[in-house]
Amino acid sequence: MLNIHALSGSSRNMKTCPDESQDQIPCFLAMKAKTTGMTERATKCHSLPERWHELSSALQAGLSGGVQSVFELKEKILRSAIIVCFSIIISLMVLNPNYAFAKKIRVITTSTDLKSIAEFIGGDRVKVENITKGYQNPHIVDPKPSYMLKLNKADLFVKVGLDLELWAQLLEEGARNPRIRFGSPGYVDASIGVKLLEIPQTRIDRSLGDIHVFGNPHYWLDPLNGKIIAHNILEGLKRISPENTNYFEENKRLFDKELDTHLVKWLEKMKPYYGTNVIAYHKTWPNLAKRFGINIVDYVEPKPGISPSPAHIANLIKRMRIEDIKLIIKEPYYESKVPNFISSKTGARVLTLPTSVEGVSGIKDYFGLFDFIINELINAFKESPSP
Ligand SMILES: [Zn+2]
Repeated sequence: MLNIHALSGSSRNMKTCPDESQDQIPCFLAMKAKTTGMTERATKCHSLPERWHELSSALQAGLSGGVQSVFELKEKILRSAIIVCFSIIISLMVLNPNYAFAKKIRVITTSTDLKSIAEFIGGDRVKVENITKGYQNPHIVDPKPSYMLKLNKADLFVKVGLDLELWAQLLEEGARNPRIRFGSPGYVDASIGVKLLEIPQTRIDRSLGDIHVFGNPHYWLDPLNGKIIAHNILEGLKRISPENTNYFEENKRLFDKELDTHLVKWLEKMKPYYGTNVIAYHKTWPNLAKRFGINIVDYVEPKPGISPSPAHIANLIKRMRIEDIKLIIKEPYYESKVPNFISSKTGARVLTLPTSVEGVSGIKDYFGLFDFIINELINAFKESPSP
C-alpha cells in the first residue's frame, strides 16, 4: 500500500474504501471530494491507472504548498479557463465594432424622416432618436431641456437645415457637446447638395413672416432627395465611425436600390394625374409636386408663415371657381377653418396629408410616407376629377 501521509501531510483524511476490492489511496481522494461537496460521480473509487494519473498530477502541482485534492485542482483549472475565455470574449466585444453588443452610435435627428433614413444607413450600429414628432409643425418646436440632454450625449446630430429648424440653435448651444457643433465631425446638414426650389431672387426679410428665406426647406418630400439626405448621413457616420465604412456604404447602396424600385411604382401610379391643378395651405409640397407632376396654382398662406387675409381668401375662391380646382391639400398641423370655408364656397375637397414619417399611424418609414401620400392623392383625384 502506498503511504498517503506523504501526499496529505496528515492522516486525518485517511478513510477506508467501502469497496474492499479497491485500493485505499484513491478512496482517500474520493472521501476528500465528498467533504468538499464534489459530485457523486467524483466520490467513486477509481481503478489503479486513473489513480496514478491523478496522484502524478497532484505531485506536479507542488508538494510544498500542501497538496490539494485532484478534484480541487481540476476545479481551479476549469475556473481559470472559464475566466480566460470570458476575458477574450469581452475584449473582442469591445474592440470589434461588428460585434452585436458593441456600443451603438447615438444619433439625434430633428425629424422622423431623417431618423428613418439614418436607421437605414446606420443599421444595427446606431441608435437613432428624433426631436419633432411626425405630426408636428417642424417650423415651430419648443426647445425643451430634455432635448438638450439628448443632444449632450449624441455622437451625430442630423438637421434638415436651411431655416426649417431655427429652434434647434438654442438646443445646440444648450447641449454643450462639441462633437455635434456646426463644423464638427458629428454635425450633419442633410440639405448639402440638394437642388433647392424657390430660392428667392430678391432680398427678403424673415421679420415679415417669410420662413423660407434660403429656398424651400421641405425638400425631403421629393423622394429622390432622400438619396442626397442618405449620402450626407453616410458621410457623417463614416467621419465618426470609419471602421464601419463598408457596412454603412452597403446599407446606402441597398437604400438607393429600394428607393429606385419604389419610385418607379409611385411615378407609374401618378402618371394619369400629371398636371392636375390643386391649392395647398403652406409651401410644404413644391418638391413633391414637381417630382409627381402636380400643379400647385396657389396657397392659402399668401407667404410661408403668414395667415391669409380676407382679400387673399376671396381671390383664392374666385380663382378656384374660374379654374375649377377641386382639391386643397393641407398639412395636419395647420388650422382647418379657412380651408373648410374655401371648400364650402368652391366645392373643393380638403385633403389632409402627412408631411413626415409617423405623421399618421401606420407610416413607419421613409418609403411608407410616399406610399401613403400617393395613395391618398390618387383616391382624392378619383373622387374629385379635374376637368
Ligand atoms: Zn415651410
